[in-house]
Amino acid sequence: MALAERLAATLAQGALTQSDTVESGTDRVGALAFSGRLGAALVRLRMKADAADGKTALVILARRVQRQARGTTYTFAKRIAGAALAEWMHSHCKTCDGSGSVVSGAKVVGCCQTCNGTGTRRFTDGERRRALGLDADKPVPRRVAAVYDPIVGDCETAYRDALRRVRYQLHGD
Ligand SMILES: [Zn+2]
Repeated sequence: MALAERLAATLAQGALTQSDTVESGTDRVGALAFSGRLGAALVRLRMKADAADGKTALVILARRVQRQARGTTYTFAKRIAGAALAEWMHSHCKTCDGSGSVVSGAKVVGCCQTCNGTGTRRFTDGERRRALGLDADKPVPRRVAAVYDPIVGDCETAYRDALRRVRYQLHGD
């Protein structure tokens, strides 16, 4: 089982048992404490969809939005952060389920045309406008568009970094 799935299983079962010989749930969750706050919140959020973790991530991201797009009110920064967070949470291409490949039987027969093989779903300007509650006939303001992708990217970076740190804490590699 992949590390992310084992973490999810641990968090879902709440099975925190200690063992000297076997890597236990407590070890995995403990290792998560070494991750950055955003990364740790995102790992738990993706595994368990916990409201408190969502709020933690939202506050950290909203502050980042405000630092990157000066003059943005906290209320609007939170809306951008929430929309970016939702994109990150649903970033798997639906056509190929995030694999980037077209599979027939057990064989990869090609590259997914929807996502160009990236496995990542691209959200349209229209979807972003709706998520931000902006007028349908107006473009997404430039300063908003400029922070949107970096914030989604920050989520993925923090998440991967948190998983890497968990792996390092457990296995030292
Ligand atoms: Zn795809």
